[in-house]
Parts: sequence; C-alpha cells; structure tokens
Amino acid sequence: MKYVFGPVSSKRLGQSLGVDLLPPKSCTWNCVYCQLGKTRKFVTERQEFFPREEILQEIFEALEIHKGLDWITFVGSGETMLYRGIGWLIGEVKKLTTIPVAVITNGSLLYLPDVREELLQADAVLPSLNAGSEALHMQIDRPVAGLTFRQHIEGLAAFRREYAGRLWIEVMLLGGINDSDEALHDLAAVLKEINPDMVHIVLPTRPAPEQEIRLPSDERIERAIAILSEVTTVVHPLKGSMDLKSAPDLLRAVTDIVSRHPVQQRELQKAIVDRFPGEDNKADEVMQKMLAMGRFKLVEHGGEPYWVMVPGDSVTPAQSGRSSEPPLLER
Ligand code: SF4
Repeated sequence: MKYVFGPVSSKRLGQSLGVDLLPPKSCTWNCVYCQLGKTRKFVTERQEFFPREEILQEIFEALEIHKGLDWITFVGSGETMLYRGIGWLIGEVKKLTTIPVAVITNGSLLYLPDVREELLQADAVLPSLNAGSEALHMQIDRPVAGLTFRQHIEGLAAFRREYAGRLWIEVMLLGGINDSDEALHDLAAVLKEINPDMVHIVLPTRPAPEQEIRLPSDERIERAIAILSEVTTVVHPLKGSMDLKSAPDLLRAVTDIVSRHPVQQRELQKAIVDRFPGEDNKADEVMQKMLAMGRFKLVEHGGEPYWVMVPGDSVTPAQSGRSSEPPLLER
C-alpha cells in the first residue's frame, strides 16, 4: 500500500493503522532528534500532495483486512498538517467506520485558522511541544524562518479553545537538552497556558541519523513527570511495539514501517515470531531479504541494533508509486 501502514502497537493508541499523507520528508521543522534525518528543504505550503480519493480508497481496503483496530492515525513523513484536505479525509473515514481517528502533528501550523478547522472532527490530536522557551525551541525543533515560539504556543492555545476532542501533547525528553529543572518549569508554564487534556512524555529510543541524542536518566524522567504533573496529567513514557499478525504481505508490511521510522531488531524479531509461532527461521529470512534489497541496514543505538533506511535512499515518490512532488522552499 502506498499510504497505509501497520497496524503499529503502542501504549498511547493501542493497535493503530497508520496513514502517511506526505512525500518524504516534508516538514516545517528540522528537529535534532528526527528519525527521518535532516530536513534538507523546508516545506511550508499546504497542498493535496496525493489525491484524497486514492488515500481514502486505500484506507477502505485496509479496514477490510485489519480487524480489531483501536485507532486510525494520520501521521506524515514530516508535518501531517501540510496535507490540505486532511479535514475531508477525517470526515470521510468517520463515515466508513466508528474507529476513532488520531492526528500526530508538530503543531507548527495551528496558528492558521483553516488548519485548526480541518482538525475539529478528529477524536484525538497529538501535537509536539518540546520546549518552554524560544531558545530551546530553536535549539531542538529548528523551525523554518518565520515560525516563532510564541506563534507555536498561541496556535496550540487557540486550538484548545476551539477543539472539544482529546488534546494530548507530546514532549520529547532529550538527555542534557530539555530535561533540566529550569527547562521543565518553563515547559510547565506554557502547558498551563495551553491546557491540554494530557501530556505524553516520549523518549528518543530510536536512532536519529543527524546526531547522537542521549536518553534522559531515570532520575530526570521522574523529575519531568513530577514537574509537569503540577499543571496537567502526564503519561509515563513507554515504548510501543509492532504487531504483524494481520499483515497480508509480511515483507511489505515490515519495509513500509522501517521506511517511516527505525525499528528495534528485537521488536521486529518478536513481531515475526508472534506472527509465525514455531517457525524459527522466519525472522532471519525476512531480515536477509531486507539486506538483499539494499535499502535497509542495521545500526546501533543505545547498545541496541535497529533497522533503518540506508541514508540518501529514503522512499522517493517514484519508488513508492507516488507521482506528486511537494513544493519545496529553500531554507
Ligand atoms: S516535526 Fe517530526 S518530521 Fe518534522 S523534523 Fe521534527 S521529528 Fe522530524
């Protein structure tokens, strides 16, 4: 499938079917921890990158195959809200199924009223907030010129006022960068202003191709939970896992997921063993095929091997069968 991947399992969203609306990598930010690598050219113009009807048709087909889903999650190879027409897609998906719809976004475009409007039908929106100050926002998120920290906070706060669904803010906690008491108190102050339903702390457990990012210590994670809990409900960070039980084409399902984010080798092995109990060679077979494709390799992160895309070989629109090119804006 070109747009739909998974299901992927996580503590936050259970069994979630992913829908990727963007050509890689299309983003308004260039986060230091980004698993997709450096943002070589920022994208700021919203567009219907791929025909909405084609995406909807794929979601329809995936819903025929995958049963027991908890969420359908719109998430992009970049900033999801760059896709103009996501509001239409959310509305159409809700006509097809009662499975709730979530949108993962960096939130940078929420200062625009038409972007907020497109999200109103979603059941949950998960925007990023990694900093409580302009300086840290610039250090971590590195937005395109013209997007400011205040704009980001005011966009989130305006969305909260207009949106009746679940607003779950994601905070990526980075060792030695935004895990000091000062940074956490700044973050708590802006969270109070925004008033989300919950904060999910997430950790940089996957390798970032651009630079080495450290995990925060257990003491710092506990401290973050304590400080942020003073202003909102905080969900403890936990890693998700992969579920391949309903994948009709195993290799395709695995490569679709690894094309979008690094996957821990242990997690991949477990998912394959769960899918084919007793077939001990199955995991090795899949991994050998992945190596033979030449598009994937193993790297080490935090002492753990991960499967990643070979740098410079991210899935291009041509490879993935997609025809549209994104509007690119030089930094
Ligand atoms: S917002 Fe997401 S896709 Fe964009 S640079 Fe940051 S982590 Fe990467």
